[in-house]
Amino acid sequence: MEKREELYAGKAKSVYYTDDADKLILHYRNDTSAFDGAKIEQLDRKGEINNKFSAFIMEKLEAAGVPTHHEGLLSAEESLVKKLDMFPIECVVRNIATGSITKRLGVEDGISLNPPTFEFFLKNDELHDPMINEYHIRSFGWADDEAIEKMKELTFKVNDVLTKLFDDVGLLLVDYKLEFGRFQGQIYLGDEFTPDGCRLWDVETRKKLDKDRFRQGLGGVVEAYEEVAHRIGVDLT
Ligand code: 5GP
Repeated sequence: MEKREELYAGKAKSVYYTDDADKLILHYRNDTSAFDGAKIEQLDRKGEINNKFSAFIMEKLEAAGVPTHHEGLLSAEESLVKKLDMFPIECVVRNIATGSITKRLGVEDGISLNPPTFEFFLKNDELHDPMINEYHIRSFGWADDEAIEKMKELTFKVNDVLTKLFDDVGLLLVDYKLEFGRFQGQIYLGDEFTPDGCRLWDVETRKKLDKDRFRQGLGGVVEAYEEVAHRIGVDLT
C-alpha cells in the first residue's frame, strides 16, 4: 500500500490518500485538543496508543456485526481504512449523565440513565458542534431517513458490545461519540473509538480514565489511556 498526498489534517489525526482510490491511511498524531481546538498539547505516545486502541475496538465491533471502516494496522501510528463518504454528524450515547448534558439540561452529574439517551450533534467546530435533531438532518440533507435509522441502530449496538467489554474489566462506559459514513451504498462506522472520544470511569473509584483528564487538567492522561488499553487487552508492543 503506497501512501500518497494528505487529504485532510484533523485535530488529532491526518488522513492520506493511497494508491487504492477506495482506501485511506489514518495517521494518529500525539496532538491532543479540547474545547474545539482552543487547548492543544502534544502527549508522547498518545498517537500510537490510540491507533492500536481503535484498531482493537473496531475488530471487536466488526466481529459483533457492526460494519466498520477498519482494514488493518499499518504501523505504530497508522491504520488503513475504507474511504467513507462521511455524514457531518456526531452520534452520542450516554449511559451516565455528565459533561455537556448536565449543563444543557441542569441534571445531576453522575446519575445512571436507564434507558441510555441518544443525541445528534453537527460536526462544526466554529459553531461548537451544536446539538441537532432528525428534522434538521433531513431538512438540510445531511443524511436520509434510512441512514438516520442505521446510525441510531448501530450506535446502540456498539453500546451493547462495549458496555459489556468494559464492564468485564471494571470500567464504566459513561458516554461516547461515533461518526458514520457511506461506502458502496452501505453505512459503516468511521473515525475512531478511543478514550479521546468517550468517557470511561473505574467502576470502584469512579476515577476518570479518558480525555476529561486533559480537558480538566488532571494530569496522567496517557497513563490513563494505557491503563484502559492494558485492562481490555490491547497489544501495545
Ligand atoms: P459531551 O457532549 O458531554 O461534551 O460529550 C459526550 C461524549 O462525546 C464524550 O465522551 C466526548 O468525549 C464525546 N465527544 C463529543 N464531541 C466530541 C468531539 O468533537 N470530539 C471528541 N473527540 N469527542 C467528542
